[in-house]
This record gives sequence, structure tokens and C-alpha cells, in this order.
Amino acid sequence: MPRIEIILAQIQENARILSELYASRGVSLMGVSKAVLGDPAIAQAMIQGGVSFIADSRLENLERMRKAGLKTQLVLLRTALSEAEAAVRVADISLNTEFETLKRLSHYAEQQRRQHQVIVMVELGDLREGVMPRDLPQFVQRTLTLSNLKLVGVGCNLACYGAIKPSEKNMAELSQLVSDLERQFCLDLSIHSGGNSANYQWFKTAQSLGNINNLRLGESILLGCDTVNRIAIPGLHHQAFQLVAEVIESKTKPSLPWGEVCQDAFGSVPQFSERGIENRTIVALGKQDIASASLQSKQKLNILGASSDHLILGGEQLFTIGQELQFSLDYGGLLAAMTSPFVEKRFVSV
Ligand SMILES: *Cc1c(COP(=O)(O)O)cnc(C)c1O
Repeated sequence: MPRIEIILAQIQENARILSELYASRGVSLMGVSKAVLGDPAIAQAMIQGGVSFIADSRLENLERMRKAGLKTQLVLLRTALSEAEAAVRVADISLNTEFETLKRLSHYAEQQRRQHQVIVMVELGDLREGVMPRDLPQFVQRTLTLSNLKLVGVGCNLACYGAIKPSEKNMAELSQLVSDLERQFCLDLSIHSGGNSANYQWFKTAQSLGNINNLRLGESILLGCDTVNRIAIPGLHHQAFQLVAEVIESKTKPSLPWGEVCQDAFGSVPQFSERGIENRTIVALGKQDIASASLQSKQKLNILGASSDHLILGGEQLFTIGQELQFSLDYGGLLAAMTSPFVEKRFVSV
């Protein structure tokens, strides 16, 4: 305790429903496994659900899946110069934006006597990774001179840093950039990767998808939501992950602290409101495991706050010590719970 309970069948079904939906308009999927630290069983559930690739931003996660014998193409979402050798060894494909890094990848690919596939990312306004559109032709021209690399695609990523929404306009721009490149350099790029879980609304409403034929999905497969407004996608499972933690204290106490005021454990001086005497419950779960704002509960718990190892609930509800409480998680919460060594990962069936 605490533990995270994972229902693989629901993740597989989410992957299947999304794969079928996107395939209906010619879009293949990469299942993104970074929020679950490349857990091989979860990646396998995505593959069984129909995703064509597994993608992760961390080499360690890709390595974990490689070792587990996953049979699919592995994609590295973020490539560092210093990791080029391992990237070539572990990943089949990597996403790139820097020529120095590509040179290094090509060098190690030659050394390892293999060909490494690359996708070039283009900046379309979110201001995270990407080659500026005006620099793209020259960037591609130079990439094509690297003999141990094979350029297989172009992609972009939105709604991550600048909170820019995938739209008909920016997706049409990506389509145009791809077709210009294909014409100019006589290429036939197999992957035109339009984005991530935030592309759902665009996909559902766009008249034309242009030539976009791939998306990279993490959150919508794992938590079943569209990330533009964090709205549940109908028909998907939204609680494939549940965090379970134990009540360790249950008492009635005043709602206002007493004594001289100083800083709390994290250096701030909190404010409290007077609600009289109330039920106070402590759950063995803390900031070291997860941020309390990432927790949601069907029981409408009144979460007052948390310190490193204690989650504090207040209000009407009365719990007994030893009782287990269940929480749903948002994406940040999932990431934190999966990363914490204190949270047991347990596969369960419904
Ligand atoms: C994390 C990531 C994704 C997946 O994002 P979701 O919102 O979880 O679908 C896709 N592409 C890149 C480059 C990423 O880093």
C-alpha cells in the first residue's frame, strides 16, 4: 500500500476502439507508453488493441519493452545527442529536430551496421520541439545525405507547451509541408504524424484530414479522454487505473489549527476556514506518491491537503482505520503513481 490497480482488458479495449475509429479515415496509431514507464504488459495490451507502433520518450522505457520481447516497432519520442548510440540500439525510429543529433545517429547506425529510421518534427506554433517550417526543406536535404538513416516521416506536436489546439489550419499546413517535401525530394514518406491525444476533436470534425495518416496517443488510450478540454471520449474506459490507499487515522478534531503560526512542511503559511468540529481522516498517501489535486474519488471526498506521507480528509464522512479508499487519477497523477517506488503496481480484472 498504496497500490495502483490496472485493468489491462480496458486499456486493450480503449486501444481497439481508438484504432478502429482512426483507421476508418486512414490514420494509424502509435501507443505512447511514457506515463506507464514503458510497462511491457500495458504496451502489449495496446498492441493487442491494434496500435501499429509503441512510442516512448525515455530510452530506459524502450529498453524495458525490448527486453520483454515486445514485437512491434519502437519509437523514441525525444532524442538527445548523448543518447544517440543507445537510441540506435534500442529504437527502430526516433523523432528528431537537430542535425548534429542526426549525424551522430547515422554514425552509430553505421557502427552497428544497421539503418535507423527517423521522423523530422516541425514546429507549428506550440513552441516545444520542431524545425521551423521555413527551415524544413534545407533540413530534410541535409538529412538525406546521411547514409545510415532513412527518413520515414514528418510530424508535429501541439497542445503540450503552448496549449495550441490542433486545427484544420495547422493540420492543413502540415499536410502541405509534407507534400511539398515529397515533391521536391521525390520522397514517399510513410508516416505523416499529426499529433497526440489532443487531435481527437480535429479528427472528429475536420472535413478533410489532408494527408495526415498517423497519431501518437498516450492519454486517450490510458485514461479515455480527449486532452483539448479533458473531456471523456464516449465509449472508452476512464478508470482502467485506480489508486488504492489505506486509512490510518480517523478522529473528530477542530477544523482550525491552534498555537503559534509558523511555516508548514513545504515553506508556506496556509489559511484555514472555521467549520467547527469535524471528522478528520488520514490516508497513507502523500506528496511523495502523488499531488493531491490529481486524485478524484467517486465518494466525493473532501481532500483538505497533504504532506509528504499523509493525505488529510475532512468533513461529514466517517472512515475506519484499515479501510481502503479508491481514487481515479489524471495524467499527472498516473505518471506520479507509476513512477513512485512506494506504489505497488497490480494487474486486476474487473
Ligand atoms: C507524450 C507525447 C505524445 C503523447 O501525448 P498524449 O497527450 O499522451 O497522447 C505524443 N507525441 C509526443 C512527441 C510526446 O512527447
